[in-house]
Amino acid sequence: MSDSDVPSQVPVECPGCGEETAHEVLKPGGHATVQCTVCGHTHKVEVPEPTTVDVDVVVSQDGESYTATLDGEPDQQVATGDEFIVETEEAIQQVRVTSIELSGDRRVEESDLDHAATVWTRVVDNVAVNITVHPKDGRRDETRSLKVYVPGDYEFTVGETVSFGDDEIEIEGVQVRDEAADTYRHEKFDHEGDMVYAKDVKRVYARDTKTAAWSAW
Ligand SMILES: [Zn+2]
Repeated sequence: MSDSDVPSQVPVECPGCGEETAHEVLKPGGHATVQCTVCGHTHKVEVPEPTTVDVDVVVSQDGESYTATLDGEPDQQVATGDEFIVETEEAIQQVRVTSIELSGDRRVEESDLDHAATVWTRVVDNVAVNITVHPKDGRRDETRSLKVYVPGDYEFTVGETVSFGDDEIEIEGVQVRDEAADTYRHEKFDHEGDMVYAKDVKRVYARDTKTAAWSAW
């Protein structure tokens, strides 16, 4: 058989039974020959081809972005917070939906693929996390920014001391991204033991454990 996508049985309105029954496909094609599995009546019928739609996906990672494609059935739902795998020639990446655009620039939080024009996502299997670090002596006006690259499921726990390269910092607070806020109880965490996954982090606030200040020299 040349077309392996044609199912061997299809639900079809049977002229013999007068209702929809399972039919065996005897001869596939646009006008297929089918036989009712209930009464044995053989007739011709138009078999609708299974349809899929392609939706543009914008994948953002650390300020850069590229376009990929999501294909699925037209009535398949996509919503902000959903995660799926995007495959391109360069990479296979886990992404999370941040926004859905319908035609006419209208942004929604949920849609079926048939109506979605563009799905905006960001990479969550490897993420860049911005950390605001203030000096050991606690002066908040002399902060610096640190950007670290970690797996999406890396755990930032308030109160823990962690090292990134030459930096050693104690995590004092974590701010959660908007699209992940529903999953967490708060948008900002600052109690010892509070944990947020890196892919959900908007910003980490930390204290330098080694250096008191940077501007002095
Ligand atoms: Zn029948």
